[in-house]
Amino acid sequence: MKVLKFGGTSVGSIEGIRNVKSISCSGTGKKLLVLSAMSGVTNELVRITELIAADDETSIDMILGLLEIKHFQVIEELIENKLLRYETKNEISAILSELKKTTKREYSEVIYSLVVTAGERMLTRIFSAYLEDCGVANHLLDARDFMQVNNLENPDTTLVGHKFKETVSSLTETDIYITQGFVRIDENNRVNTLKRGGSDYTATILGAALDAQEVQIWTDIDGFHNNDPRYVEHTHPIAELSFEEAAELAYFGAKILHPQTVSPVIHKNIPVYLKNTFTPFLPGTKISAEATGKGLKAISAKDGITAIKIKSNRMLMAHGFLRKIFEVFDRHQTAIDMITTSEIAISLTIDDNRNLVKIIEEIDDYGEITVEKNHSIICLVGESVIKDKKASSIFELLHDTSIRMISYGGSNNNISLLVDTSNKISVLQKLHQKVFEAKPVEEFV
Ligand code: ADP
Ligand code: ASP
Ligand code: MG
Repeated sequence: MKVLKFGGTSVGSIEGIRNVKSISCSGTGKKLLVLSAMSGVTNELVRITELIAADDETSIDMILGLLEIKHFQVIEELIENKLLRYETKNEISAILSELKKTTKREYSEVIYSLVVTAGERMLTRIFSAYLEDCGVANHLLDARDFMQVNNLENPDTTLVGHKFKETVSSLTETDIYITQGFVRIDENNRVNTLKRGGSDYTATILGAALDAQEVQIWTDIDGFHNNDPRYVEHTHPIAELSFEEAAELAYFGAKILHPQTVSPVIHKNIPVYLKNTFTPFLPGTKISAEATGKGLKAISAKDGITAIKIKSNRMLMAHGFLRKIFEVFDRHQTAIDMITTSEIAISLTIDDNRNLVKIIEEIDDYGEITVEKNHSIICLVGESVIKDKKASSIFELLHDTSIRMISYGGSNNNISLLVDTSNKISVLQKLHQKVFEAKPVEEFV
């Protein structure tokens, strides 16, 4: 079995969907296709959840109407058989009227999840009918029957595997299965999500659950680039990344992968290929245990970071002090990303402010607290990057850029800088120029 995930950008246009079909139908063997919603649709559905809170039924109806038009147009273009076209339109209308009913129920996390995952339900329904119209046998599976993910950080892939096999056991044999990305069932058996961009994670959870030969993630770019192409010119795709390198880059903001994508497949050693749906002949990126090459490979940036400084000339170096501070963050289930210490102060960063007020209240007794929001962590990643002389040019940036924190040597594979988000783009660009575009002056040691 291979798992192929197609993102919103791949299924966002007629041309894209046709390409998805030809990629899915090429080669032999069983395939599980994980599809996202058409690009832009999940954003509209999130908008609906905001309108539920604002009790704005008129705007909700308008969006539902536009979503129907959008999906009907795709059906018109792709499905030739009149009866199938009619039936598929009816199914989309049924999903949308169910959605309308959902918006009238009392708002809760489940309502949010039911609404925002409807894009995947619509698109998979259309794609399955499109394949059928082209004479390609397939089974459309409801991911809510098997994507039981109770712990977002540590999914039980064995459980998902059992549930998947149970789901397909009653079906006739086929080579192509289709399911929705993004959605999951939580510990209370309620519908929930894998967070925005979560279809990548669906694909690797299923890859591990089914002991897949490989996972392919198809998107609108030819692989993992060495810097964020939205902000930096002349980036290029990286042929190979190790699981650890890709995990660091995804965790530290590379939008091409959901932050947790890599973790389920690492211990099963299942390779992940990143490919472009619009240029499938290009090699893309292979993420595996066998990746070669040392030194700096890529730079990424993660926004929404808050820096917290605790200044205390009395207690910092007293033993047990750091433990007490960390325990506060632990109690509030808030992960710490970066840490630096000096004789009298400790600075650390978090990316989740939900419990910030409570945390500050509790650490207030330990010293003078300063909180700075709206920061970004810029991450330089590659095996043994700290020994790469190119990477040391980051220190040349220091004279004209305000860098709030540096983490160097915590791991051999990662150097992190904390900057104000307003400086992020210029730092990414300057770094790119210095480390990837400047003529090599010194060799990697
Ligand atoms: P999909 O809809 O297929 O999930 P996404 O928009 O989530 O696609 O991810 C692909 C986008 O990620 C690219 O179009 C690109 O703009 C952005 N991106 C950010 N950082 C990188 C990177 N390092 N390499 C490749 N793409 C990146
Ligand atoms: N459609 C969902 C989103 O936009 C999931 C995904 O695309 O991966 O977040
Ligand atoms: Mg994505």
